[in-house]
Amino acid sequence: MSTAAVIQLSQVNRIFQVGEQQVSALRDINLTLNAGEYVSIMGPSGSGKSTLLNMLGLLDRPSSGTYLLDGVNTTTLNDEQQARVRREKIGFVFQSFHLVPRLSAASNIELPMILAGIPAEQRKLRVDELIGSYGLRDRADHRPDQLSGGQRQRVAIARATVMHPAVLLADEPTGNLDQTTGKEVMALLERLAEQGVTLIMVTHDPKLGQRASRQIQMVDGQILASTET
Ligand code: ADP
Ligand code: MG
Repeated sequence: MSTAAVIQLSQVNRIFQVGEQQVSALRDINLTLNAGEYVSIMGPSGSGKSTLLNMLGLLDRPSSGTYLLDGVNTTTLNDEQQARVRREKIGFVFQSFHLVPRLSAASNIELPMILAGIPAEQRKLRVDELIGSYGLRDRADHRPDQLSGGQRQRVAIARATVMHPAVLLADEPTGNLDQTTGKEVMALLERLAEQGVTLIMVTHDPKLGQRASRQIQMVDGQILASTET
């Protein structure tokens, strides 16, 4: 396993302006994660977990500080450059799946490859491979509202990994699933981590969080503790 830093945050702050008020969602965050690490982020509601994950996923920008992804300073990239880095390096899995309602399971999985300009033949092969490995063969043509929660999250994970991202971010990925289905989804994510993906998962379930090799505790926009097991 490589020990090169894939993520380096230095003095990252995120301040939201809400009317007259300023909310400090992240305060002076310093964080280095190595390639292939499996990390959980825990902490009370409102402690900044999602804000941190969105930052890592280039869905949001710091108010101050720098974010190096694979050695590239993302903070100085424009939106278009950031979008390209996001497509190439990052996969995102959300609690509420965020699938495109009108598209079939197969088309949802294919979407990032269309955005990346991958030729149709190559797309078809890769979608077929993922449909098979995620047990979605008989659901490929179904729309999200025709799928169970577990099937939707499998589609979402397939979509998140279709471009072979180095970093997979998951925000409460089992939060909308029953316990059995949640375990299945965790097993899929952990299999990806074993294959070398850097997996960063937000959870408020300590039992799930403890499965990661490194646990980050957030309180009030700050990293309170980072422990390794
Ligand atoms: P968590 O995921 O740990 O529950 P969040 O990262 O969602 O916490 O939120 C951290 C803090 O930032 C909270 O006080 C929240 O109200 C605030 N916040 C998050 N997103 C926004 C936003 N888009 N606008 C204003 N305030 C926000
Ligand atoms: Mg959250």
